[in-house]
Amino acid sequence: MVWRRLAAFFARIYDPVDRAEILFLKMKNISMMMNQILFLTLADRVFISEPKMTCLYTLMFYNVITYAISYVKELIEKEDWSPYVTLTERSKIKHLAMSATKIVFEWTKAVTFIVTLTFMLLVFGLEQGLEHYKPSTIYTTVTWIYYLATEKVFVEMFPSILKFLRLEIFENLEDFYAPVILKSFTISATALLVLILSPRASWKSLLAAIYLNIYLSLKDLLRISGAALKLERRILSPYRRATPEEIKQFDDVCPVCLCNMTRARITPCSHLFHADCLRQCLKTSDACPMCKRELKFQTALVE
Ligand SMILES: [Zn+2]
Ligand SMILES: [Zn+2]
Repeated sequence: MVWRRLAAFFARIYDPVDRAEILFLKMKNISMMMNQILFLTLADRVFISEPKMTCLYTLMFYNVITYAISYVKELIEKEDWSPYVTLTERSKIKHLAMSATKIVFEWTKAVTFIVTLTFMLLVFGLEQGLEHYKPSTIYTTVTWIYYLATEKVFVEMFPSILKFLRLEIFENLEDFYAPVILKSFTISATALLVLILSPRASWKSLLAAIYLNIYLSLKDLLRISGAALKLERRILSPYRRATPEEIKQFDDVCPVCLCNMTRARITPCSHLFHADCLRQCLKTSDACPMCKRELKFQTALVE
């Protein structure tokens, strides 16, 4: 009784903090940048003997590289190369002011891109300037991987990489697994650095990293990407995976997509489907896609 009251009391106190934390997590760019700065600060201390603001320079370089990559990506994906803006999508009447703005804007982007590339060439190619900037290879590797796992441009590419690998274990849920994998990786990477630093660094300096990079990231993971993945997996959970013998015995294609099956889920009515095909069907109907038998009733019995 006392414990329950105490818990309720703390929940009430924590409520505004909770809302502030959620708001902070919703401002993705800011929370991501904070995570990157904190992680790189930790990495500075672990991997570099004289960390003279190395993390800020590194972060700046990485941002420049990201900008260059996203600009090239935009150029590759661009479909509309016309410099004019028309009044509506189908009309041929040109909007003069908007067209002028668009041309200036596109040129500015191109010039910025060229300036950026020149800057990169100067720094890396000719090794000009930045005398104190001496990151080690391991530092660059670790921080670059962390950066890739957090920066939006690369995070958005990650599901396609997973899909390209065609790992059956994901059962076509790559879009849901991708953020969970990346978040778990960044959280564990920070935890590892905190552990390494814990004997030498003061706990005060580590607390920020523990709070923002571990606690808040974990909260975000459980609230959003983790919950979404769990929901998708729950749809499939009543149907067990078919054994290789069962698939061999079934000796047929998936009734939904008519493709071969190397892995499958099996319904209570003994029909085999690709996990993803079954999941998509169950989103619109509760019946077995093959024999139309009501599956909800069956799953209730299984449970
Ligand atoms: Zn299928
Ligand atoms: Zn069936």
